[in-house]
Amino acid sequence: ILRINNLTKKFGALTAVNDLSFTIEKGNVYGLLGPNGSGKSTTLGIVLNVVNKTSGDFSWFDGKTSTHEALKKVGAIIERPNFYPYMSAEKNLKLVCKIKGVSSHNIREKLELVGLWDRKDSKFSTYSLGMKQRLAIASALLNDPEILILDEPTNGLDPQGIHQIRELITRIAGKGTTILLASHLLDEVEKVCSHVVVLRKGVKLYSGRVDEMIASHGFFELKANNNENL
Ligand code: ATP
Ligand code: MG
Repeated sequence: ILRINNLTKKFGALTAVNDLSFTIEKGNVYGLLGPNGSGKSTTLGIVLNVVNKTSGDFSWFDGKTSTHEALKKVGAIIERPNFYPYMSAEKNLKLVCKIKGVSSHNIREKLELVGLWDRKDSKFSTYSLGMKQRLAIASALLNDPEILILDEPTNGLDPQGIHQIRELITRIAGKGTTILLASHLLDEVEKVCSHVVVLRKGVKLYSGRVDEMIASHGFFELKANNNENL
């Protein structure tokens, strides 16, 4: 679905992403794992066309479609969810459909999927942070994307909210949607992802299956060297 080749991003003297290569295959759940400042959001920003790369390349799907065209088949949440506070959840999603130019026939299904159909008439401002995040996920799924990209979707949530989001991600993946999840929590990647790309200071330390990473020898060294978050 996504191929990244030797991608580099510099902010002045700082190399945020350093010669990064990996591929995302259809049907898997990928973790992009690394501590704060390791380049996760920058990488997502580049492939979503909101950050300019310094060098290297990336290509979506068959590599022939333009990024602009390809992104119509991508759902992404890379910021805190932002909806109209005094509008109901359902109305907010109707507005999203209008803006994105997608049909609103999916709204009920997506609100049910994220467990918010019974709260569809409540104003967004009355939602908990976890509910806001789940509404954002419903919104990102309105166009039935082939891949859903999430940047630290459980940040700031309480344990129940975290559990609900992780469970929801697993459910969405179970329906065949490919997922790319940026996280600084090994625990989260272990629970949710089948595959992982580990970043440290913009450099890829590992990519492959999560179970193989955990079973491998080098993993404990990796963990010991990054004891804060990894
Ligand atoms: P976090 O876990 O904190 O979200 P991250 O892995 O997403 O971290 P990035 O946000 O990609 O990391 O940042 C990578 C590095 O690039 C950091 O050192 C950050 O300070 C720097 N950086 C990111 N955006 C900019 C910018 N617009 N201007 C200058 N430096 C930036
Ligand atoms: Mg980030």
